[in-house]
Amino acid sequence: MTHIAPFQRPDLHCHSLASDGVLAPAELVARAAEYGVDALALTDHDTLAGLPEARAAAAEHGIILIDGIELSVLWGSREIHVLGLWVDPACPVLGARVTAQLDARRERARRIGARLDKAARIEDSYAKACEKAASDTPGRPWFARVLVEEGVVRDQRHAFNRFLKKGQSAFVSTPWVTLEQGVRDLLAAGGVPVLAHPQAYSLTRKRLRELVRDFRNAGGLGMEAVMPGLSSQQAGLLEECWRHFGLAVSGGSDFHSPQQKWLSLGGLPPFPPDGRAVWQLPEAGYATADAGSADPDLEVSVS
Ligand SMILES: [Zn+2]
Repeated sequence: MTHIAPFQRPDLHCHSLASDGVLAPAELVARAAEYGVDALALTDHDTLAGLPEARAAAAEHGIILIDGIELSVLWGSREIHVLGLWVDPACPVLGARVTAQLDARRERARRIGARLDKAARIEDSYAKACEKAASDTPGRPWFARVLVEEGVVRDQRHAFNRFLKKGQSAFVSTPWVTLEQGVRDLLAAGGVPVLAHPQAYSLTRKRLRELVRDFRNAGGLGMEAVMPGLSSQQAGLLEECWRHFGLAVSGGSDFHSPQQKWLSLGGLPPFPPDGRAVWQLPEAGYATADAGSADPDLEVSVS
C-alpha cells in the first residue's frame, strides 16, 4: 500500500515577478488559493528568489507549495525548458547553476545592447534597457521598449521583427547550460526534472521523440502533458511520448499574468487515470511505500 498525497487541483507550473510573471509570489499564491488550487509549484525562470515569500503565503492559505524552477537549457542549439519540481533551494549545485544562468542572461543582454547600438544607432541601449527593467539582465521586451522610445520602431512587435527575433541583426542566443547538465543539476538538488511544454518547440513528431528520448536518457523523470489549450492532436502526440518513454505526467497552467484570460491557475484538463502523475514518484517525497510496492525500475533509473 502506497500513500499518495491527494492533489485534487494541482498547478505545477507558474511564474511570479521573480522572473517574468506580473504577480508578487504572495499575490500569486493568494490567487491560486482563491481558484481552489491545493498544490502549487512556483517555477520561475532560472531563479529560486520567489520561493521564500511563496512558501510563507502558502502556509497562510493552507495550500501545498512545491519548490520549483524552470531552467533554460540547450538541446543542440535549441532552447528548451526543463522544470525542476521538489528541488532543495539550499542545494549548492543548484545555487551555482542559478548564478551561472544569470551570468548567461547578463552576457546575452550586453551583446544584444552592443548590436543594437550599431544596428539601430542608439547610444548604450544596454544601460537604457537595464534602467527600464530595474535589472542588469534585461530580456528582449525591454530592448524592444527602448527601440520604441527612441523612435526607431513603431511598436514592440516591429522591434522584434526588425531587430530582436531569430535571424535579425540583434538576435543573440543565450549560452545556457546543456540539457544533460541541467537535468543532472536538478537531480543533484533532489528535484524531479520535467520537460516543460514539449509541444511548444515547433518540432516534428520525429524530433519531438528524439528530444523526449534524450531528456529521458539524461535522467529526466516527467513531462508536461496536461495543460490548457492543447489540440487533440498535440495531446495525442504527448501521450504517445510519455507512454513510450515511461515518463511520469505533469501539468500546469504556465500562468504569468491575470491578463492571460484564456487560462487560470489550476484550470487544467484531468490527469490521465492510467498514467503516473509526477507527485506519485518516490522522488516527490510523498509516497511512503511499504515493502514490495515501490517501482524498482524507477529507483534504478535515477541512481
Ligand atoms: Zn513557464
